[in-house]
Amino acid sequence: MQLLVGRLRCSCKNDGCDWQGPFDGLAAHYTSCNYRLVSCDNSAMGCPRKVAFGLMGQHLGRCEYAAVACQYCSQVVPKCKMNDHIKMYCGASPDHIIDCPEGCGGKVLQSDMKKHISQDCQAHVVPCTYQEFGCVYRGARSTIQTHCLKEVPAHMFLMSENLHVRDVAINEMKAFLKEFTVQVEKMQVFFGEAQEQSARDKQAMALQLAQSEARTSAVEAAVEKRLAEFQQSVFKIGKGVEKMQATVDGHTWELHKMVQDPMRIATASAVAFSAPQSPVLSSKPDQATSSTKIPPIAAARLQASAIMSPSILKKVRTTKYKMR
Ligand SMILES: [Zn+2]
Ligand SMILES: [Zn+2]
Ligand SMILES: [Zn+2]
Ligand SMILES: [Zn+2]
Ligand SMILES: [Zn+2]
Repeated sequence: MQLLVGRLRCSCKNDGCDWQGPFDGLAAHYTSCNYRLVSCDNSAMGCPRKVAFGLMGQHLGRCEYAAVACQYCSQVVPKCKMNDHIKMYCGASPDHIIDCPEGCGGKVLQSDMKKHISQDCQAHVVPCTYQEFGCVYRGARSTIQTHCLKEVPAHMFLMSENLHVRDVAINEMKAFLKEFTVQVEKMQVFFGEAQEQSARDKQAMALQLAQSEARTSAVEAAVEKRLAEFQQSVFKIGKGVEKMQATVDGHTWELHKMVQDPMRIATASAVAFSAPQSPVLSSKPDQATSSTKIPPIAAARLQASAIMSPSILKKVRTTKYKMR
C-alpha cells in the first residue's frame, strides 16, 4: 500500500512552478524549489516581503529597505527611512528639524534656526520698537505689541525729546559742513598754486637746459675750429720742413762739388767777386782781399758759406750746368 502511494504522481503547489513527480520526491523538491517563498534578505532592516527564492536578486535591486549610509552622519539607515532620519534624527544634517531652543515650542530646520530666532521666534527677548528714541524695555517678542499699546504717551514724550536732540545735532552737522567746505576751498586754492609753481619750475628748467645745450655747441664749434687751424698749421710746417730739407740737400750737394773741384770754386769766386751787386762782398771789401792768404780748401769753405747769398748760388749753379 505504502509503495503504491509513493508512486502516485503529484505536482508542486508553489506559484509558477510546473514540477510534477512521484510523491516520494515531493519533500526533496520543496527544499530546493525556485518558487518557494523566503523572507527578503533585508528583513533585518525591516522589509516585510516574502519573495520566490529564484526572484530574490530581482527584488533586492528595488527593495525599499536596502541599507544606505547617511551622507551627513554615515549612520546606516533603510533607504525608505532616510528622509525621516535626516529631518528628525540626524544631528549633522542642515535639514534636521529641531525644537526651538528659545522655548517657543516651534520645530525648525536646523539650517533655518538663526533666521527663526532673529525674525520670528515669539519667545526670543528683544528690545522695544522705540529703543532708538530712549525706551529701555526688553521682553519676549510676543510682549512687545502689548507694551507699545500700553506705553503710547511715554513713547510720544521720548520722540519729542529726541526730535529736539536731532535738531541740535543737525545744526551742529550744518556748522561742521560749512567749516569743512571752507577747508576744502582752501585746499583747492593751495593745490592750484602748487600746480602753477610746478609748471613754472618746469619751464625754467627747460630754458636752462636749452641754454646749456647752446653753450656746449658753441664750445664744440670753437674747439673744432681751433683743431682745424692747428691741423692746417701742422700741414704748413710740414711743407716748410720739406722745402728746408730740399734746400739743405741742394746746398750739401753744391758744397760737395766745390770741395771736390777747387778750380771751379775759384772761377765761381772770381765771378762772384766781380759781381758788383753782391751784398756780402760789397759790404765787406777788406775780408775779400785778405781771403787770398787763406789756403785753397779753407778758402773754398769760406766761399761756400758765402753761397748762402741767393745771387751767388744762382751763378754757381749756372756754372755747374754749363760744365755738363
Ligand atoms: Zn516547485
Ligand atoms: Zn525587501
Ligand atoms: Zn544622518
Ligand atoms: Zn522659537
Ligand atoms: Zn517701549
